[in-house]
Amino acid sequence: MTKINSLDELNFDNRFIRELPADLETKNECRQVLNACYSNVSPTPVREPKIAAVAKEVADLLDLREEVCVSEDFAQVFAGNRLANGMKPYATCYGGHQFGEWAGQLGDGRAINLGEVVNQQKQHWTLQLKGAGKTPYSRRSDGLAVLRSSVREFLCSEAMHHLGVPTTRALSLVLTGEHVLRDMFYDGNPEHEQGAVVCRVAKSFTRFGHFQILTARNDLDLLKKFVDFTIRADFSELGEPSPAVYLKWFEAVCKRTAEMIVHWQRVGFVHGVMNTDNMSILGLTIDYGPYGWLENFDLNWTPNTTDAEMRRYIFGKQAKMAGWNLAQLANAIIPLIQKVKPLQAILDDHYTQNFQNLWSKMMTEKLGLPDFQETDEALITDLVQLLQSVETDMTLFFRQLAKIDMSQTNFDIKPFETVYYSPEQLNENYKNSRLEWLKRYQQRLQESKISETQRSKLMNATNPLYVPRNYLVQLAIDNAEKGDFAEIHKLLDVFRSPYEERADLQKYAEKRPDWAKERAGCSMLSCSS
Ligand code: AMP
Ligand code: MG
Repeated sequence: MTKINSLDELNFDNRFIRELPADLETKNECRQVLNACYSNVSPTPVREPKIAAVAKEVADLLDLREEVCVSEDFAQVFAGNRLANGMKPYATCYGGHQFGEWAGQLGDGRAINLGEVVNQQKQHWTLQLKGAGKTPYSRRSDGLAVLRSSVREFLCSEAMHHLGVPTTRALSLVLTGEHVLRDMFYDGNPEHEQGAVVCRVAKSFTRFGHFQILTARNDLDLLKKFVDFTIRADFSELGEPSPAVYLKWFEAVCKRTAEMIVHWQRVGFVHGVMNTDNMSILGLTIDYGPYGWLENFDLNWTPNTTDAEMRRYIFGKQAKMAGWNLAQLANAIIPLIQKVKPLQAILDDHYTQNFQNLWSKMMTEKLGLPDFQETDEALITDLVQLLQSVETDMTLFFRQLAKIDMSQTNFDIKPFETVYYSPEQLNENYKNSRLEWLKRYQQRLQESKISETQRSKLMNATNPLYVPRNYLVQLAIDNAEKGDFAEIHKLLDVFRSPYEERADLQKYAEKRPDWAKERAGCSMLSCSS
């Protein structure tokens, strides 16, 4: 396959703006955008674009040669200073429920789509700059993004992909040379930070909120048009749009969402802001804001300080909240179907029940068991309780469990030594419960006749060793803010093979050091980005 030598050779087929109606107003001013799905708007030029990092796997998706990705032109285009041939920038209109309340029009306030690239495999990939300036949807904000949040989005999108979690991708991280004012904790201490732009890449960036806003405005013709467009573009296997196909489509969205959340629970990812405007219709993880990775297993944890009181989007509630969001999507498409019951039935079967089945299967795989049996339910519930009862590093626990030789009658639990944050919590009571649980686990393994080699193989393919621990990413940010991007490149590389243990990467597989426990950016984040 020949690769592309210049960004001007990218092949664009901009279906979204060709087939859906545009905002007739062209001034870049904040407004309510009615009877339209998007506004034409150009990125704001910046002073001094500088490439910090490029993900080569994403460049490959776009057939870009490596030389292109280090060129000055690449920096200019992906900072928003130049449009390559075929790029037609636009921001889309969506609404959403934020923390349970209908928020009206939101939209791409700091995201500008550049168009849809068709690669040599005939796949459509939408390119989207995040942090490239104001749009009609920016409301009272500046449309910009700071370096710290851009590093977080860039690294985590790619890490998630390599972990096998459905996600939007990140092509590039480019510094703008501009300063951006941010009050990181909304406490009256704003500071100037470096600006950056991430180029995100996905089959589509359509969110639940894109449909919700149209129904909320009773723009039902456009609702139908947008749903039909989405089905033809991204769900063509379902057939030509019709009321029956709308139901099939909702079923597919329910299934994909269930799969995505099961992956989040598997790897210990907490999104932080699961508002309906942050839910992808393709079941992709989207909008990396105040997300975090579980250190000690804690169902009640969220890194998002904005949600510290309500605790709506904590680790243990992500499945429930995704179900709530799907119910809002169902409400939005009722006018197309005119019946509530079939939507409710799909939600129950293909989300709630399906999630439960997938989750049980995933948890048995985390334990190296080949199948899920009724009796495993108690084994799993009791394990969750055990993990929750003392501060246990989730990632290390499962990797170390795989290292214990369960074929021995008197198995040696030494591998667990490294998994606890507060060893003083390990009282007799806990130790007894742990031993009792391990014996039940051993019994179950013996009944299943799985060999120790097969067990650890399945476990190590399900339980990652290298995840974007909050403090690891923060260390890369600290260096990046001083102009040193080497740690970003290193982490990008480490996260490429998250399941394969490598002796030289030991320091990336360690539990959170004490200094990081209370440090801003490591354990606490806000929506300010
Ligand atoms: P989020 O909670 O980050 O998903 O964002 C909610 C809404 O706020 C979306 O419509 C975003 O586009 C918008 N938004 C967030 N940050 C900014 C910003 N710096 N400038 C303009 N709009 C923003
Ligand atoms: Mg968002």
